[in-house]
Amino acid sequence: NHSELTPLRFLERSAEVYPSKQAVLHGTRSYTYAELEARIHRFAQVIRERITPGDRVAVLAPNTPEMLMAHYAVPLAGGVLIALNTRLSAHELQYIMDHSEAKLLFADTELLGNTKMLRAENPTLQALIELTDDQFTGRRPDVAVDAVLDELLAEASEVKLPYSVEDERAPITLNYTSGTTGKPKGVLYSHRGSYLNSLGEAMHQGMNSATRYLWTLPMFHCNGWCTPWAVTAAGGTHLCLRAVREDSVWDAIENLGTTHLCGAPTVCSIIADAERAHELAEPLRITTAGAPPSPAIISKLQKLGIEVVHVYGLTEVYGPYTICEYQDAWDELAPAERAERLSRQGVGMITAESARVVDLDMNDVPADGESMGEIVLRGNNVMIGYYRDPQATEQAFAGGWFHTGDLGVMHPDGYIQVRDRAKDIIISGGENISTIEVEQALAAHPEVLDLAVVGVQDEKWGERPVAYVIRASGSQLDAEGLISFARERLAGYKVPRTIVFPQDLPRTSTGKVQKNVLRAQALEEAAG
Ligand code: ATP
Repeated sequence: NHSELTPLRFLERSAEVYPSKQAVLHGTRSYTYAELEARIHRFAQVIRERITPGDRVAVLAPNTPEMLMAHYAVPLAGGVLIALNTRLSAHELQYIMDHSEAKLLFADTELLGNTKMLRAENPTLQALIELTDDQFTGRRPDVAVDAVLDELLAEASEVKLPYSVEDERAPITLNYTSGTTGKPKGVLYSHRGSYLNSLGEAMHQGMNSATRYLWTLPMFHCNGWCTPWAVTAAGGTHLCLRAVREDSVWDAIENLGTTHLCGAPTVCSIIADAERAHELAEPLRITTAGAPPSPAIISKLQKLGIEVVHVYGLTEVYGPYTICEYQDAWDELAPAERAERLSRQGVGMITAESARVVDLDMNDVPADGESMGEIVLRGNNVMIGYYRDPQATEQAFAGGWFHTGDLGVMHPDGYIQVRDRAKDIIISGGENISTIEVEQALAAHPEVLDLAVVGVQDEKWGERPVAYVIRASGSQLDAEGLISFARERLAGYKVPRTIVFPQDLPRTSTGKVQKNVLRAQALEEAAG
């Protein structure tokens, strides 16, 4: 006497309850919920005619309405969606298409060039279908396609496909990790996990039918942390952006009535450090995620009147797993203390079962805010497993808990704080140095715009910290000045002796600093 849980239900309900409400806006293109629903069902028919249930269907597109629609159309057609990272090279795409044996590929016009190799070399790929977008004004790459989605939609049947699923534990999407430490792994999300995580997210971010969500987070990145489903569940409006630039984000904040957005700390910097940044009269809530935000950037946003929500998670747990929400006795804290607290990773979301910090024997470390261990997670919002990789799955779930590879501490109030990724932590003279802690101390300098700290080998100490720092424009700050600033805030062994001032920092598509690239660079510089 129950129905299986699926996020498809969110579209059904919002189309029923809010048919004439704006569901999505992209440039001058806009669809109501009724229009969006009709378009999605036609899209689903196009897919269903070309696949058998369970087949993988890949989409390569920026944050357009079509990418959003694919989050419903593919599962409605019985397929498993692969939202591809738009920054992958042709070679990387080839790997994922081979590994997943995807049958269909929908690609945005701008990105068609990267699919050239696939046509010739991928035996399972049966059709390449172009997604056109009136916001793309560049030149079309010279690549032959089998069809154009808009033309197929015009001919497709209006008949609705059922919203129900037979098995809520069946996969809905397949998300490839960025593979900084080896081949990308395919993370399988279930209908049930996606349903629960979306509702948790909508609740924790305070979404409702007045929500206008600006897409600055890439939808391909763990399915935009389930947000295509969460905003739809709330009956809110998706504001799509082809590219995240200072101007386009501020235009959307000022003119489109944006109430929510979500982005890595770099997106927060783009917003807070923009020339046009100003205090806001209307409420705006920014969820920062993906990398540790410094208290300095949190304070900058708060000074603009922006409410900051901080979540922590990873691809394997549908995006966000913990949320930092100090509500209790919050008013008694000074603003600087609040920003510091908000930079912690927090407590499990309502849909999370349990987050622990454990030692090598899986015993909880003392909740003293100091003893470090690995963060392990469990619950409905942990992946089904890695696709076609039982060994990696078994390893990830050793001892019955999902191992994040992140090192952290547990505070006495039950809040988790990430100290570092296991692969980034610096061990110097036998002491652990959290690169995050050093970064946050240096980020408090008013002339530091952005930075990253990595460990480099050292004959005497084993490893030592090196900082890569981007200064604010016009700043005369030098290494010596920053080192003496750091000395006042950090124990001596944590203070970087080497400070490099590069033009920019190497980043992933989601705006995270690629510390492996910086480490290689630091090693070269130390040797040369
Ligand atoms: P790959 O696994 O492919 O190398 P990745 O690790 O960047 O890439 P994601 O799943 O996007 O893949 O990132 C998850 C990691 O990002 C977490 O394990 C953690 O190290 C970091 N992270 C995410 N959110 C936060 C946060 N709020 N605070 C600190 N670290 C975070």
